[in-house]
Amino acid sequence: MKSAWNDAEAKKLGNDLLKLRVYTSRLLGQDPDLVLHGGGNTSVKIVEKNIFGEDEEILYVKGSGWDLATIEEPGFAPVKIEPLKKLAQLDELSDMEMVRNCRMAMTNPSAPNPSVEAILHGLIPYVFVDHTHADAVVVITNTPDGEERIKEIYGDRIMIIPYVMPGFILAKKIREMTEGLDWDSIDGMILLNHGVFTFHDDPKIAYEKMIDIVTKAEEYLEEQGAKELAGEERGELDLMTFTKLRKANSKVWGSPILARLDDAGPTVAYSNLPDVEEISNIGNLAPEHVIRIKRTPVVLGKDHEADIAAFVEDYKAYFHEFNRGETLLNPAPCWAVWPGIGTVSFGPNVKTIRITEDVSQHTTKAIVQAETLSSYKPLSKADFFDMEYWSLEQAKLKKAGSAKEMQGKIAIVSGSMTGIGKACVERLVANGAVVAALDINPGITDRFPQAEVLGIECDVTDPAQLASAIEKTVTSFGGIDMLVLNAGIFPKSAKIADMDDTLWRKSMEVNVNSHQKLLQLAIPYLEQGFDPAVVIIASKNVLAPGPGASAYSVAKAGLTQLGRVAALELGDKNIRVNMIHPNAVYDTAIWTDEVLNARAKHYGLTVEEYKTNNVLHVEVTSKDVADLAVSMLGKTFAKITGAQVPIDGGNERII
Ligand code: ZN
Repeated sequence: MKSAWNDAEAKKLGNDLLKLRVYTSRLLGQDPDLVLHGGGNTSVKIVEKNIFGEDEEILYVKGSGWDLATIEEPGFAPVKIEPLKKLAQLDELSDMEMVRNCRMAMTNPSAPNPSVEAILHGLIPYVFVDHTHADAVVVITNTPDGEERIKEIYGDRIMIIPYVMPGFILAKKIREMTEGLDWDSIDGMILLNHGVFTFHDDPKIAYEKMIDIVTKAEEYLEEQGAKELAGEERGELDLMTFTKLRKANSKVWGSPILARLDDAGPTVAYSNLPDVEEISNIGNLAPEHVIRIKRTPVVLGKDHEADIAAFVEDYKAYFHEFNRGETLLNPAPCWAVWPGIGTVSFGPNVKTIRITEDVSQHTTKAIVQAETLSSYKPLSKADFFDMEYWSLEQAKLKKAGSAKEMQGKIAIVSGSMTGIGKACVERLVANGAVVAALDINPGITDRFPQAEVLGIECDVTDPAQLASAIEKTVTSFGGIDMLVLNAGIFPKSAKIADMDDTLWRKSMEVNVNSHQKLLQLAIPYLEQGFDPAVVIIASKNVLAPGPGASAYSVAKAGLTQLGRVAALELGDKNIRVNMIHPNAVYDTAIWTDEVLNARAKHYGLTVEEYKTNNVLHVEVTSKDVADLAVSMLGKTFAKITGAQVPIDGGNERII
């Protein structure tokens, strides 16, 4: 591991201790081999004048809810050190009392709650204190002879702390173990099965001591041949089996969830290990990971539904074995090991499944490394339980707000680059869904900044590209619940007598045939979906065609008829199909200035008059159409199928 300290960067911060604290905290936080997703904590001690003009030593410690990778100055909670030191002298302190007293010792009541390790940080007599959960060190301690190995690597420059619960118990343990200690005689502390503490009055030295300790552990692993597995190719994945796996786990979860396939080479190699079931069931890498990925994954065999049911039974048995009045958490597995295929992460949103995937990757790598050293031996079940059901962790989970209507649901929207399609994608994401956004424009892959959107370049008239888009959607999210058939072109105006064959066929290809194919390919997945629904973006031309637009109007009428028949055929499977007939939506790609001028001229109107030429004299926007489409996909239309709704401000020819 290399030091990322940059003298020029640090110099810009001068002697501002808090700014320097932010700087090295980020250096630590941005390396996933040191901390993952909110793990680890850091602090700095600063002497400040209080309102009475007296000097007071203040601990600025990482606030709860902040991530070291992105922390800013307000992410550090300022706590008076004297009361912290007094708390450390107590024999007992409940979690709630600890949180309350730490908050009372703060000099800024609107700062976040200080880290659970605040008391411990207060005890360490150096200005800068860094704490990580470095993989390499934890791997070595997660073996039966871990402590001896640590002694062998570091000698007596490192103090070894046996595993105890984080928080007050850990602070008390370290207070007892360091009484009378000459702190300068050690470079840091290694907490077995947990992580590393380093400290110094100079931020660079504190940080680089951490890097040194971790580098030594990495070198040791290297020497012992404890490497990551060489990548392997995954076996053939049956997408329908994957979708059913998502469905089965969603049922246990109690709401639709996402499922994401990890088939990276080393993950596949792990899944292929002959003893994969045995080693996966020993426990995860670090106690805090239990909140993210539980103690173990489900290891899949032939019958996935039965495997999940067995996992749930085991989980409940584990809960009942250690439970002392806590509430059972969701017993569904957070991730699966799928022999020959890789792993699968489950969760209600993209953020969760990405975190789960990261943590599971670090876990499988660690298990393999520890097995190479001797054997993998993480914490006991009881220790995992204490962490998983720790009141402070349970409180964090309860803070998570209420779910959005479409949380855990998956949509495909065709023609998503601009206009109605783009608006539908944004509206779906705002409602909690994830979306595969298809478009022929290659720019689609980075069109949407949201992690919830998977942009896929796709020519919808090519069935092979459609099939590939479906595969990407299913392996990234787990299935398909909603489909918006929107892609379309508006061919040049031409009378039937003058119609160009190519133009006619092209309109049929894009405006009807492509939708028939995408719908056909999506039906098996929609059948496994949650409250599955299809929305077809047709046109007012279906109900009120205009001369010169036969290629467009006939295609859209065909598309509408496709939707009506689909509503009849798919009703038994609870798949709803509804149609929207927009008119005069001018913020879409097909309405170029040229087309707009031509149409306005045709009706003898100015462009402005033409835009609001409807009963209500309103302009209809893409966003209006998207709002209607998303309503049709949601609860409002739960009992409606085969409906055709015009959105046009009222059209005399239709009314
Ligand atoms: Zn920790």
